[in-house]
Amino acid sequence: MLSPPEAEAAIERRVPAAPQATLPLTDLSGRLLRQSIVAERDQPPFNRVSMDGVAIASSAWDRGLREFAIVGTQAAGAPQSCLPDPSACIEIMTGAVLPEGCDCVIPVERITNLGERIRVAGDVVAKPWMNVHRRGSDSLAGETLLMPGCVLGPAEVAIVASAGLATAEVAAEPRIMVISTGDELVEPGQPIRDWQIRRSNAYAVVAALQRRGYLQVAHDHLPDDLEVLRNRLRAHLDTHDVLVLSGGVSMGKFDFIPQVLAELGVETVFHKVAQRPGKPMWFGVRNPGKAVYALPGNPVSTLVSCIRYVIPGLAASLGMARTAPLQVVLGSDVNVPSDLSIFMPVTLAQDGSGRQVATPKPTRGSGDFVSLTGTDGFVELTAGPRTAQAGTLAPFYAW
Ligand code: AMP
Ligand code: MG
Repeated sequence: MLSPPEAEAAIERRVPAAPQATLPLTDLSGRLLRQSIVAERDQPPFNRVSMDGVAIASSAWDRGLREFAIVGTQAAGAPQSCLPDPSACIEIMTGAVLPEGCDCVIPVERITNLGERIRVAGDVVAKPWMNVHRRGSDSLAGETLLMPGCVLGPAEVAIVASAGLATAEVAAEPRIMVISTGDELVEPGQPIRDWQIRRSNAYAVVAALQRRGYLQVAHDHLPDDLEVLRNRLRAHLDTHDVLVLSGGVSMGKFDFIPQVLAELGVETVFHKVAQRPGKPMWFGVRNPGKAVYALPGNPVSTLVSCIRYVIPGLAASLGMARTAPLQVVLGSDVNVPSDLSIFMPVTLAQDGSGRQVATPKPTRGSGDFVSLTGTDGFVELTAGPRTAQAGTLAPFYAW
């Protein structure tokens, strides 16, 4: 049986890449770039003035000149003007092209306007290229500014726009179908009998996905019926990139999921992980491009397995670099009784020296999702038998 890190690694190795999409600039935030972005022009594309003021030739200031006749105005967005006489100046705006014959900008705050002329304040020291953002000083035309695989934050989106592109090739958000299974489950809002159970897992999974920015998430419920499972899972595989199932993967007489998935051509990558809760966890792939996560049905098992496997699997399919989980300090001893790793719900708080301390909040079993309320996530404690000591570090996964 695989350990949780081995199961995660197997998912990362086998999970198919998410489809690509061409998206406009306003839809790029948080996406993974699938192309190179090459500079359209030098950046800045011309000697760009970076202060409002007057443009002069610093050689005139060197010769002792402190008053300059205003011979023109250069606004941002206007073609380059020319200083006809080195003892004169041109009024200039931030973002304008530095006029030909000028090499220095004196800020408006440092001059006195005398009508036709300006006087430079006595303590100004004019130097070549003062307040000028020189052409090509940031990057040169043809330079690669962004590589495939980079996550597009605000700065990266600005770079795409500055390269003159209205759209970019990115990893598309996968179409995800969350499917709960089980004859005992009844939809919230519908009447329920004493022997039935509310269908809660699918909503927990959808919430966990939405929280991480996956919004193309649909959900369905299927009975423990071989024929229905075959037909509906076949249809969902045709129309979605990722299926996240819950229930039906244990040893019960009506746990049909692995069998049906095999019939539909989904290859089993693994079935069972040495973990508690969630040992029956199943993962498989179908070429081209389909990933199927079948999570155990007990609500705590479903949620921890979703966080521990589906979330990193989706990130890997998008081509994101793996991010190591936060290491937190265990707040009290935890007994790990067997050769199964334990997912222990915890609350997190910062101690006096800024360390994150995780206080264990054990559930009364994998059906007891009510006691998860108020917890921040869980820590993973590697298999025993052993005691995980208070004060030692453990990887933390947020809900
Ligand atoms: P299973 O993995 O199908 O054997 O289900 C294990 C336990 O989890 C059973 O008690 C189920 O009733 C319960 N369960 C399964 N699926 C759900 C669900 N979607 N919502 C709430 N409980 C569920
Ligand atoms: Mg079931």
